[in-house]
Amino acid sequence: MVSVAIDGPAGAGKSTIARAIARELGYLYVDTGALYRAIGLFALEQGADPKDPEQVLPLLERTQLSLRFAAGEQQVWLNGRDVSQQIRQNPVSMAASAVSAIPQVRAFLFDLQQNLAKENNVVMDGRDIGTVVLPQAQVKIFLTASPEERARRRHEELAQRGQQVDYAQLLEEVRRRDYNDAHRAAAPLRQAPDALLVDTTGNSLEWSVAQLTEIVKERLRDVL
Ligand code: C5P
Repeated sequence: MVSVAIDGPAGAGKSTIARAIARELGYLYVDTGALYRAIGLFALEQGADPKDPEQVLPLLERTQLSLRFAAGEQQVWLNGRDVSQQIRQNPVSMAASAVSAIPQVRAFLFDLQQNLAKENNVVMDGRDIGTVVLPQAQVKIFLTASPEERARRRHEELAQRGQQVDYAQLLEEVRRRDYNDAHRAAAPLRQAPDALLVDTTGNSLEWSVAQLTEIVKERLRDVL
């Protein structure tokens, strides 16, 4: 099986780019952030503090999580409910970032991610795909962009979903999530030594998609 790993901070364009590359290659697109979001959502729903392992860990015993794919679109199922829409609510982002710092949460999600890549050709996006989950991935990309650009994109994305969130708040959240993701002890966000670094600041997503699709295809031609 072939794996393409796309890592980077929130708002670097990972999901748009990874989805487009997956479609082009006929691979499965797996958004791993959705798994952390589902656990963050569950914590919020249960009134647990997402930062507190003592409150979050007991919830894992009651968490049935799966990803399903319908016409190439990923759905996230939590305890028999499709939570694909709910996990996109803004407060869930910070909760996901908080629960993702808990090592047992990462371990809980590890097999699910690895099994998907054992059974399918995948383009998988996340924070630790090239470093921890799929270190053997044939192609690794680390995508980044300035915090301001990422907050602006997030602002547009939320507006399109009908959620009005202040730009300054989003910029602050982007910075805080970056800090949390990069400084946690468990699988911190960092570029794998063999990943290609791509900065999308100032480029349209369409342009980045076209450019990266070509790069990935070329690399796959070399390694396969
Ligand atoms: O990618 P997305 O913004 O949906 O991810 C939500 C949160 O989940 C991130 O802020 C990050 O803390 C966490 N995450 C992670 N490892 C991954 C994917 C996401 O820690 N592979």
